[in-house]
Amino acid sequence: MYDVIVVGAGISGLLSALALGKHGKNVLVLEKSGHVGGNCNSYCVDGFWVDTGPHAITHLLKGPLRMLMDKYFDYIPAFVDYGTYYVRTPTGIRPIPSNLREFVTFDALPRKDRLMLSQALTKALTLSTFGIDTSKTSIYSCLPRHLSKQTYDFVDTIAYFLSGKSMRETSVYRVLYGSSFVRDSAMYETSDQPIADQLAEQITNITGIRRLITNKTSHAQAYPRGGLKALLNSVMHSLPDNVEIKTNACVNRILVEGGVVCGVSTDDESYDAEVVVHSGFAKDLPVLIEDLPAKYLHDLGQIDQALSMCIWLGLSKQMKEFDYTGSEIWFQEKAYWAMPISNYSSTIAPKGKQLVGFMFVVEDSVKREKKRAWATLHRAFPNIERYIEMTHYQVTTPEKAAVSIDGYIPEVRTPLKNLYLVGTDAAAESMGITRAAYSVLDLIKCMKEDGYMMSGRL
Ligand SMILES: Cc1cc2nc3c(=O)[nH]c(=O)nc-3n(C[C@H](O)[C@H](O)[C@H](O)COP(=O)(O)OP(=O)(O)OC[C@H]3O[C@@H](n4cnc5c(N)ncnc54)[C@H](O)[C@@H]3O)c2cc1C
Repeated sequence: MYDVIVVGAGISGLLSALALGKHGKNVLVLEKSGHVGGNCNSYCVDGFWVDTGPHAITHLLKGPLRMLMDKYFDYIPAFVDYGTYYVRTPTGIRPIPSNLREFVTFDALPRKDRLMLSQALTKALTLSTFGIDTSKTSIYSCLPRHLSKQTYDFVDTIAYFLSGKSMRETSVYRVLYGSSFVRDSAMYETSDQPIADQLAEQITNITGIRRLITNKTSHAQAYPRGGLKALLNSVMHSLPDNVEIKTNACVNRILVEGGVVCGVSTDDESYDAEVVVHSGFAKDLPVLIEDLPAKYLHDLGQIDQALSMCIWLGLSKQMKEFDYTGSEIWFQEKAYWAMPISNYSSTIAPKGKQLVGFMFVVEDSVKREKKRAWATLHRAFPNIERYIEMTHYQVTTPEKAAVSIDGYIPEVRTPLKNLYLVGTDAAAESMGITRAAYSVLDLIKCMKEDGYMMSGRL
């Protein structure tokens, strides 16, 4: 009998196992694939270390991942400053504005549009500062009419980047939070700082308009030196002996007795546990459990997901076009978000060579999307073919629940006793790994409230 079984060994499952293990719980992690890490991993292709998609890790100064690392990691990986976000057009790259002052001189968009966009942004931010809920208001509905196609394409690309969905399906709230114009809340019992102090700090920081004028998003963002695997390695290294991991163990049933979850089963074995933490797709829960209430089943069916395709290119030499750290977006025709990740660490590509990852949203068949993606790459870099010596494709779901206007995001606590969820579909704040880390903090908070973390229980 285990105290806790964690289903899935992606970053959210492993962070949960680490935290619970360090709180003294006997934890079993069951992972269906042959390796741990899920989307938080790197592997070698022809001498180039590709990550599972290009990654910028956000809110690293004081966010949820920082809290978990400070509290539970035996060693913290080295992070390299993320760098700058650029936009590329056929005439080259320029930094994406991170405040209104820079926005006014951002010549990738027509001048008239820039002025109208900055007014719309200021208005949205003012509403948010005064506590008006913008989570159901689409970005598109707030845009002035008669903008150029170029400007709509730019806004659409930013929306896809922040939520995986178009500007018609992405909320204003998401843009304000995702862009760090409004600070993510980081108030948790797990922080050593008293809640009252955290609250006071939040109030001084939410001076929205001032942040919009002075905002520097890059300050809290970074990339793990050596690749995404460096973060995974430090989690694995920090796991205590009371955490056991089994790979090639697909959970096909979550066991329930008298309305209470009591374990899981795989093809080969059944395991008893007092608590089950599920970190796979929450959308899959109806297949794993029979006893879910009808309303919950309906809500899980509303979870919205996006699919992405990443094209990794190993280049025979460092191209001058990728002579920067950070990332770039292309917003005309088929948009991409790209990162020359070998610029962060010399170990990522063979000496003198370069590795660049390009991420595209997939809305059509993968075959047609590949064709469009290559058309964009050839348009943006007419000479790139002569430098390509490795091409590698990944088609993945970056986040288990897109933060779209009508999409459902489940909570960490489920309607079934002893069953909790973690991962990017169990928190709405921020993105990716940071979002997964929010769900893990919430798990610890819920389990404490539900009495599982007190002595005598578990
Ligand atoms: C292309 C791309 C770009 C990204 N960019 C960024 C970025 O810039 N910044 C950022 O922070 N994040 C980014 N992310 C997202 C980030 O990688 C993920 O949010 C994070 O790794 C998700 O972790 P997770 O644990 O929630 O889920 P996953 O990584 O999906 O882990 C879930 C695990 O559970 C296992 N599993 C599922 N069902 C079962 C079952 N029934 N039994 C046993 N095991 C099961 C799966 O095999 C998997 O290993 C990106 C992701 C991609 C793909």
